[in-house]
Parts: sequence; C-alpha cells; structure tokens
Amino acid sequence: MSWATELARPEIVALKAYEHAAWEPGLERLHANELPWRALGDDSLAGLNRYPEPQPGALIERLAALYGVAPESVLAGRGSDEAIDLLVRAFCRAGCDAVLVCPPTFGMYAVAARIQGAHVVTVPLRADAGFALDERAVLERCTADVKVVFLCSPNNPTGNLLEEQTIVRIAGKLAGRAVVVVDEAYLEFTDTQSLARHLAKLPHLAILRTLSKAHGLAGARCGTLIADPEVIALLRKVIPPYAIAQLTLEAVLKLLDPAKLADASKRIALIRAERERLTAALAALPQVVRVWPSAANFVLTEFTDAGAALERARDARLLVRDARAYPALGCALRITIGSIEQNNRLLEAWR
Ligand SMILES: *Cc1c(COP(=O)(O)O)cnc(C)c1O
Repeated sequence: MSWATELARPEIVALKAYEHAAWEPGLERLHANELPWRALGDDSLAGLNRYPEPQPGALIERLAALYGVAPESVLAGRGSDEAIDLLVRAFCRAGCDAVLVCPPTFGMYAVAARIQGAHVVTVPLRADAGFALDERAVLERCTADVKVVFLCSPNNPTGNLLEEQTIVRIAGKLAGRAVVVVDEAYLEFTDTQSLARHLAKLPHLAILRTLSKAHGLAGARCGTLIADPEVIALLRKVIPPYAIAQLTLEAVLKLLDPAKLADASKRIALIRAERERLTAALAALPQVVRVWPSAANFVLTEFTDAGAALERARDARLLVRDARAYPALGCALRITIGSIEQNNRLLEAWR
C-alpha cells in the first residue's frame, strides 16, 4: 500500500467512484439524459446542454503548464476552497482525526474540519517573530490523530511568507504521518518559488494554488491542488461529478493564454508597487500603530481605533476587512491593495 492509502480514510480508499457518463467527444451522446439542443441564447463553445468533461484534460494541462508540474499531480476544483474541503474529507475520520492550523490564518481550514467533524489543533504563529512558524510546537502537537497540516504562505491575514526551510523540515519529519498542505494563494505577489518543486522528495506535501487572486479570476472559481498522483486519484473519487462548469472551463482556457499572462504580470507589478506605497503612507498616519510587512496583495494594519477607521472608510464607500476577531492581532484591519485611485481615496479618508 502507498503512504496515501495508509493515511486516508479507509472508506474513501475502498470507495468505488461514481461512474461519470463516458467522455467520447467523437460520438453523439444518448447516454447522459441531456437534451439534444442548446437552450435559447446559449453561445458557449460546447453547449451548456452537455455535461462537461470531468477534470477537463485541456484545463488540467493548462494549469500544469502554468504551475510547472506534471498533469498527473493536478486536481482542479471550484476554487482552492474545494481542495481544502476534499483533503479534509478524504483524510480525516469524523470524531477521531484532526487537522493542525497555525492562527491567525485563513479561516476555511478550520471550517472544513468542523464540517467534516474533525478536531482542530491550533499552534499559533509567533506574533513576536513576524508571525513565523513555531516549528517545535507544530511537531510536538502533531500527534497521531493529526492527518492534515495547513500552512499558509504568504499567510492570510498577516501577509508574511513562512520560511521555506522550516516548512521543508516540518514536512520531512511528518513523512507518512500527515499531509502537509502549503497554501500558496498569494505566491504570485512574491519573488519566491513554489514549494511544489519539493514534491518529488516529499510526496506527502500538497500545494494549493488559485486563479482567484493574482490572475483576477475569482468569479470563475478555479483552484488547483498539486500533490502526489495517489492523492489526486483519491480526491477524484470525492469531488462531486462534473465539478468544473463548462463556462469556467471556457473562460479559463480563453483568459489564461500566454499573451494574457504577460499582462497579468504587469498588473501584479502595479499591485506590488502600490503595496509599498500604501505601506509607507499608512505607517505615517497618526492613528496607525503599525503596518505589518506584506508579501501579498493586502496589508494588515493596526489602528488605535479600528472601529473609527472602518467607519471613515465606509463613508468613502470603501470596505476593508475587520481583523479584530483574529487571535493576537489586536485592533487590526486587513486592507486589500486596490487601484491607485481607490488607494488614494482610502488614504484621504484616513488623513
Ligand atoms: C482567497 C484564499 C483562498 C481561496 O481561494 P479560492 O481559490 O478562491 O477558493 C485560499 N487560501 C487563502 C489563504 C486565501 O486567502
């Protein structure tokens, strides 16, 4: 048995997957109870009367090329949120297994665990060390019931990168014991390489990427899990049938071509420049206690009075994220980097 089938829920390993209607584009379809005609006004390429290809080959290849990995290591889902859910479902037995998270961090890891009935072990990031991983505590608290460890780098909402060597050491020690998931939702805003290149040596590493942030396609709902092909095969049994909508497939193939990717990197450069400008301008405001350095497209900022700052922003018709409910952040707001005009309006509201 492979490491993945030993670690996963036995019910999922034994599960016989739902049988999709066969995908044979050369033949006419009288096997899926679809209508033979398009709906009025349906101008999609393939026709929305047809079920889409499960895990569409063209999409998987495009995502694999984008992230520089093998297609067998790729699962596409409705946002990386879906991949988070699938990992917890496939590896955590309700009532006995657990996930480990390092708060303050992205909330969906714990939500997915609770939906599945898995326990949540929390090992806080070290607020006194720029929200670095507490390596020793992670390893100590990673008991036999912990099946999935979620690490987010750059971390949401704090914006810092986690140290690569620390992640690699943690993953090295957890081989065969847990899936170590590194959520790289904001990696495109950094100069750092993806940890996907360690997958050959650390097959229990899993990487999350998304088109929602730097690629500007949050509405398309398309995220990617990069993992051992064994993990991909298990999760393909758990993902709902025909999960990638035909409209998403067509939009992503159209918008993710090489010419448009060059444009995406220009936008990323602009966001990064604005991030530096906003960081400096916020730090100069009297009501700002501090701005945490960010590697993402947002900045976490501590105010003397976050409630008042929220209201002033709202008066300027701008929403920023109240981060006061996160542990260890105090009076903080998470501010997404907007257009130059939006960022100026926000600064004006706070001056
Ligand atoms: C936004 C975000 C996601 C979710 O992305 P989708 O692909 O849109 O589901 C995942 N992880 C982190 C840390 C995020 O901030």
